[in-house]
Amino acid sequence: MFVDSHCHLDRLEQGDTPLEETLNFARQRGVEHFLCVSVSVKDFDAMYEKVQGFNDVSVSCGVHPLHQEDACSYEKLLQKASRPEVIAIGETGLDYFYSADTQAVQRQSFIDHINVANVLQKPLIIHTRDAREDTINLLREYKDAGTKGVLHCFTETLEMAEAAMEMDFYISISGIVTFNSAEALREVVKAVPMARLLIETDSPWLAPVPHRGKSNQPGYVVEVAEFIADLKGIPVEQVASATTQNFYRLFDQIKAG
Ligand SMILES: [Zn+2]
Ligand SMILES: [Zn+2]
Repeated sequence: MFVDSHCHLDRLEQGDTPLEETLNFARQRGVEHFLCVSVSVKDFDAMYEKVQGFNDVSVSCGVHPLHQEDACSYEKLLQKASRPEVIAIGETGLDYFYSADTQAVQRQSFIDHINVANVLQKPLIIHTRDAREDTINLLREYKDAGTKGVLHCFTETLEMAEAAMEMDFYISISGIVTFNSAEALREVVKAVPMARLLIETDSPWLAPVPHRGKSNQPGYVVEVAEFIADLKGIPVEQVASATTQNFYRLFDQIKAG
């Protein structure tokens, strides 16, 4: 069975199709759990309302680094993220590729999220792009030893992946790995041990080949798993079981109930 460790179920572009139908398509393909990731604390309640009826959907709480127009105070984040249904903090992190001009604000928001994760002992979901040194350095400086997490939709270097794994972090791979241009990422995926990998769609964005250019959906996490299996020369069942076990080991609040 597969898990989609990172999707935005409140943002899917599915026209009139009910969310239930989209989830059923994924379930029929063997996807057993979905982590619906928050990008704005302001929108958290609306997001949670859409998914709270589904037992196989969990939620996180946080402000995406590129949504600083929705920035919120440390106290507000702590309060919202304390809710029992919130199993992870994020997505947070640093994105200097799309928004170099908000770097200072992004760093402060990232630090707030790390502190909240430390206090609540919930794992961090981190978005990082063209900000390798600052991401690793802020984690080293502010993170408690016991705080775990994931670098989601990973597209950076093996060196960065190794620095994160040393801090008990997982590396999550999206449909980008199937793109023609992603040769460097494929080398990284080959080198990262199965015990540290997660898979995700980041839907509605980044649909994997052969769906590229269409709107992405959680069921397509299967294509990501199949691609990684080919890359590593192992059966897809092995990718499924390893990434699913890794998921529950990291987000250990889910099975604990
Ligand atoms: Zn992201
Ligand atoms: Zn995301």
